[in-house]
Amino acid sequence: MKKTISIVVPCYNEAAALPLFYQEALKVIDTLPNYNFEFIFVDDGSTDETLNVMKSLAEHDPRIFYVSFSRNFGKEAALLAGLEHASGDLIATMDADCQDPPSLLPELLKYVDPQPSQNPVEKYDCAATRRVTRKGEPPIRSFCARIFYKLINRMSKVEMVDGARDYRLMTRQVVDAIISCQEYNRYSKGLWAFVGFKTKWVEYENVQRVAGETKWSFWKLFKYAIEGIVAFSTVPLTLAAFLGVLFCLIAFVMIIVVIIKTLAFGDPAAGWPSLVCLIMFTSGIQLFFLGVIGEYLAKAYLETKHRPHYITRETNLSHNSAAPHFSKDLQ
Ligand code: UDP
Ligand code: MG
Repeated sequence: MKKTISIVVPCYNEAAALPLFYQEALKVIDTLPNYNFEFIFVDDGSTDETLNVMKSLAEHDPRIFYVSFSRNFGKEAALLAGLEHASGDLIATMDADCQDPPSLLPELLKYVDPQPSQNPVEKYDCAATRRVTRKGEPPIRSFCARIFYKLINRMSKVEMVDGARDYRLMTRQVVDAIISCQEYNRYSKGLWAFVGFKTKWVEYENVQRVAGETKWSFWKLFKYAIEGIVAFSTVPLTLAAFLGVLFCLIAFVMIIVVIIKTLAFGDPAAGWPSLVCLIMFTSGIQLFFLGVIGEYLAKAYLETKHRPHYITRETNLSHNSAAPHFSKDLQ
């Protein structure tokens, strides 16, 4: 029996890009006649015509399924919904703007489902993609991204690859492992690294989005980076304790110096500007780390509420489980 590949696509205001993506994907699907395909389009509370575009595509193609959220829950929630609803043996996640080129799919497939006709290729559980260039991206964004990856890899036990995209082809086993991580604050790049499995990295040059515009402002990316660090490292908390001890030691040495100076030379009442500077500095550090602790506390607070990751408003899937969506004649 043919294997089924599910293509999961998170979409937020992608009415312009989605039809182009679908055309691109169809071209690739035509070159892979040995597989069945299904599309899981997730409308992440779009305010444009995205849902209508999905509906009209689904009318003409029974392989298209859509899930529409009650509001914008973010790309992480959209990815999770797509994975939870995908019924395929192999599951691919890609963006709607063709920045994750569908044409790379056969290459990814080579590693996850090697065919006997191919030269013997090692079988992997997951083929992941990585941009080797950030061409077309604002330089400040690339610079910050590079610093972020350096930082997080120093701080976290799980290794995150610089330039890694959320464009992957995975076996059902990997997807089940990802779904089993039910944390509220999701950071997919970290989760993929956390679940492990044999992963083949496929590299490609950055591609510009085909239509529409990016949904990630600098501020949104910054918050996402903090989320990644808080979700996968407790080093900032340890750093607070370390700096606390360091400042105590410095203070202790300074006290001794002051005592000796007073005993030896009397008590010159100079030095209050330096005192003010020191007070400002240490209280700044204290407030900063109070903020860091608050960040962890806030995340823990959100986790304890066990709120759903997303709320579905409309779908053409008749059930929520990952049971096969295909009618028998399509298999
Ligand atoms: N996206 C989403 N919800 C959001 C933001 C983005 O589902 O809140 C989707 C978006 O439609 C696209 C993918 O996530 O398919 C990547 O977004 P985008 O292209 O804006 O990010 P960039 O490639 O600029 O990092
Ligand atoms: Mg994009």
